[in-house]
Order: sequence, then C-alpha cells, then structure tokens
Amino acid sequence: MNGIRVGNRVVGTQAPVTIGWENIPRVQGGPFKQWFFTWFQPVVLFGLIVFWYYAPNSIAKASTAIGIGVGFKILLLALEWVNPRYDSWRLTWKELATDLFYVGLGYTVLRLVDGYLGDGPMIDAMQGYWHLEKFQWFTGLPLLVQAFAISFIFDFGQYWMHRGMHNWQPLWLPHSVHHYITQLNINKGAVGNPIELFLISLGIGGFFDFLPRAALMAGAIGMAIGTYQHINVRFNSPRWWRFLFNTTEHHSLHHSQDFESTRSNYAGSYIFIDRMFGTCIDGEAELLGMEGGRRMTISEQMTHPFTEGWKALKEKFGRSPTAVPAE
Ligand SMILES: [Zn+2]
Ligand SMILES: [Zn+2]
Repeated sequence: MNGIRVGNRVVGTQAPVTIGWENIPRVQGGPFKQWFFTWFQPVVLFGLIVFWYYAPNSIAKASTAIGIGVGFKILLLALEWVNPRYDSWRLTWKELATDLFYVGLGYTVLRLVDGYLGDGPMIDAMQGYWHLEKFQWFTGLPLLVQAFAISFIFDFGQYWMHRGMHNWQPLWLPHSVHHYITQLNINKGAVGNPIELFLISLGIGGFFDFLPRAALMAGAIGMAIGTYQHINVRFNSPRWWRFLFNTTEHHSLHHSQDFESTRSNYAGSYIFIDRMFGTCIDGEAELLGMEGGRRMTISEQMTHPFTEGWKALKEKFGRSPTAVPAE
C-alpha cells in the first residue's frame, strides 16, 4: 500500500476499490432470490409509507415506530445470514460484543444527553418563538411532501456536517473512530466516538415536524433508506434506487482503505445530494478501515480524539524550550 503524503505526513493510503456500477457483481442464485433481493428495498419503503398514511390514530405513535424498527433489524440480521455481501464481513463474537456495547450506549446515555442538549430543545424553543400558526402553509401540504421535506432537510444538514468532519481536524478526530470499523453490518451505524454520534444526530429537519404523523413517516423513510449504509447484504438495488438513495456500495467506498474514495458519498439517505455537489462516486469496496485495517479496542475508541487532539495541539503550539532562542 502506498501512503498519500501531505508534506511529510501520511494522510491516507491507496487500496483496491471497484468503481462503476457495471463492475459490481449481481446476486448469485435462482430467479426467486434475484427477484427478492431486487425488490426488497422498494417494497419495504413503499409498504412503510402506506402504513403510516393509513394507520388509525390509535396505532400511529412512537411506540409502534420503535417496534417496527426492532422487527426490521431482526429481519435484516436474517438476510445478512442468508445472503452476505462479503464472507470477510461475517459477524464474529468479538464484533458482535463491540456492536452491542454501542447499540446499548445509543439507547441509554446518548438518548439522555440528546434530550437535554440535542436538537430537540432547540427546535422546541424555535417553534415556540415563531408560533405554529405561521407555518400553516407547511402543515397544509400533503403528508408525504411534509415527510419528505423533514427527512430531506435533516439529510441536507447531515451532508454538510459529515463533509465538514472530513475536512476540519477538530471534527475529523471524533469522526475518525467510526472509520476504523473493518466491516459493515446493521449495527455498525452505532459504532463511533460518542461526541461524533451526538454531533451527527443534530438536525434541523425536526423543525418542521409539526404533525406527529409526518414526523413518524419521515423517520420511517429515513430508516427504510439510510439503514442500508451499514449492512452485510448483497442487493440488486434497482437503477433508480441507487441513483437517488445511498446504498451499501456507496458507503463501503466511503469506509474503504483508499483515501480518495473516503472523500465521497457523505449523505446519509439521499445520495443525489452528493450528485448535486459533485462528491458522489458509484462503486464498492471490501477492504475497510484505517491504518491498513487496524482494529480499535473500545477504550481506544473512547479516548482516540483526545489523545490525537492533544498530540496535534502539541505539534502546533508546543515548542521545546531549547527551540526558542534566548533574548
Ligand atoms: Zn465519514
Ligand atoms: Zn459509516
């Protein structure tokens, strides 16, 4: 592997990646398997939209959304078992233990912190200040349009936050931990330094969630598209799907060991945002991670931004006394 250097600092490597959809292998197997893994993603998305559109008020609440989310994850775990994208990404006990630690963290500590400091209170304050009546033009729009707008605005914010993380060192240090993962599976979206996980959860999309049903539908759309960023399943996603939406292929390039490829595909759900700003690369990668795929322990994942940040600060400002000429 060749190091890519800026001055005398190695900032990345070059590693094999597949570029172009025509070079990506299709699902292996009979006609039913082909059909299933071609239409699974669109059918789930369409089914969830229809569900939240027609569900009676007694069912259309957050607890239902949480239940659907858990059921969807279990189904995807089964698909990872049946039709893995790469055998090298298969779950091991060690990987599972790390993943479950972060999934647990996400459901407890991060949720608590987000409740006090996250976008929720900020949005509540803004909505209270501007008053709901002024936004009747928005709440009068068709439900699906509201839901799309909420999820699009959220993803648009995420795109710039994520792109910022790859271009500004104080944001890169916490985000870099997520880039040390060496395989994709459905729990890997939860793995990262808690500071980064908090930052990436901030969004202004919630500002427009005046109707609970629109917010629930937006959440379902985000789940039915964004979940495939981190999953070890090979799909034959339809052409229109991969043109509009972020796929495992796109996100595997973003996680690849190839430095140039990681500087692409920043959107969470809507890859057309990357197409709009010229940062989309269609393709995929199997070899993931940093430093040639070195695995981090949980304690290193927790402390890495601080130890690296301290090193960087010392490099920038710290001078040994002998280096300063005496007056
Ligand atoms: Zn990234
Ligand atoms: Zn990722």
